Amino acid sequence: MDIRVICVGDELLTGDTVNTNLAFIGDRLAQLGLALQGEICAPDDERRIIDALHICQNADVVIIVGGLGPTIDDLTRPTVAKFLGRQLQLDPAVRDGIRAYLGVRAASLPADALDVQAQVPEGAQIMPNRNGTAPGLILRHHRTLWALLPGPPRELIPMFNQELLPAILPQTQADWDAVTLHVCGMPESTVEKQVRNTLGDTGGIHLAFCIKNDNIMVRLSQPCSCRHEILEQAVHALRNAFGYHLMPPPHRTAAEYLGAILTERRLTIATAESCTGGGVAAALTDVPGASAWFPGALVTYANDWKTQLLGVPKQTIDTFGAVSEQTVHAMLDGLLNNYHTDLGIATSGIAGPGGGTPDKPVGTVVVGAAATNNAWREVKTFRFNGLRDSIRARTTATAINLMLANLLNH
Ligand code: AMP
Ligand code: MG
Repeated sequence: MDIRVICVGDELLTGDTVNTNLAFIGDRLAQLGLALQGEICAPDDERRIIDALHICQNADVVIIVGGLGPTIDDLTRPTVAKFLGRQLQLDPAVRDGIRAYLGVRAASLPADALDVQAQVPEGAQIMPNRNGTAPGLILRHHRTLWALLPGPPRELIPMFNQELLPAILPQTQADWDAVTLHVCGMPESTVEKQVRNTLGDTGGIHLAFCIKNDNIMVRLSQPCSCRHEILEQAVHALRNAFGYHLMPPPHRTAAEYLGAILTERRLTIATAESCTGGGVAAALTDVPGASAWFPGALVTYANDWKTQLLGVPKQTIDTFGAVSEQTVHAMLDGLLNNYHTDLGIATSGIAGPGGGTPDKPVGTVVVGAAATNNAWREVKTFRFNGLRDSIRARTTATAINLMLANLLNH
């Protein structure tokens, strides 16, 4: 099955908008065992859009995203119609639909703005847009299905799922049989080694590893011509090998999984954060229902706040530095003794770009996770490469995973 994507928009080529639609479409198709064969990003320029249409014209499905709006830079509809030799005609039902969507706002629009978006190439099937004005279009031409979808993700995503997939799935044949697993509380290299040790020579199974959010994604896939049981046996072996570290569905992030465990065990957690500046708290409160187990966080960025709010002895900071295991131990003590949760997380580190020293270069971070009453505690120093953003994001993910790993082992 040859499926191609063409994304249209100057903003995608100037860096103003990140092409999240491509990522969404690729991910959605991959979940269905369909491999995207290529993508072209074209500016709002008729000649370049036609170049892209030429390249894709022998594919089974061509998905064209963006450029369906009412302004003069929106060229996708007329350009595709011209390329396929179809006349554009005003469709009164589409115009009524746009009017109904806009409601009272329709009156303030010039009539021809409505008419532009109600132009439909002859023979096109309409995909209604419940979240915007531009309808999607499907055109079948020789053996190719051409689909035109609006660019704003909040319009594209529901239309893709609810309108386009039902139209194309009956004629698609999956290329890949795939399963995706999420492992947390372990570094990527350990995950990879354990997967390889468990599965041995994987034969026909193709393995892919990647860090996704705060966990490691392991994708197992094989051509559809192989027996599905082979994949099932591999997943079964991995479940045994990873135990609780393999996140049970439907959890997709370690924070979500942590929340589920805290709910189940009726435990509460708080954070004392320096270099992450509340990032761990933000990740935890991304989880719906976090108020049941997360009373709050302290962002103690400056040394005297660590002392005033957490009781970290000034002498500890002076002797060992704010980024030290000793300081993080004291942050955990202050957090658990004064704020009375069952569990605590603390972070301190040098996110850069300034502030590094020869023995504590940028990327040095200390992360701690502890249970109250000294039931257990782990404080560890890490050295992360990269820029400020990624160092802070990795520290956040590491803190959640350190907590999770300890909870899973206790
Ligand atoms: P359109 O008028 O259909 O070209 O789409 C306009 C809006 O959708 C703009 O805000 C774009 O930045 C956004 N958009 C278009 N294509 C994409 C894409 N591939 N990924 C993310 N946003 C996009
Ligand atoms: Mg556009």
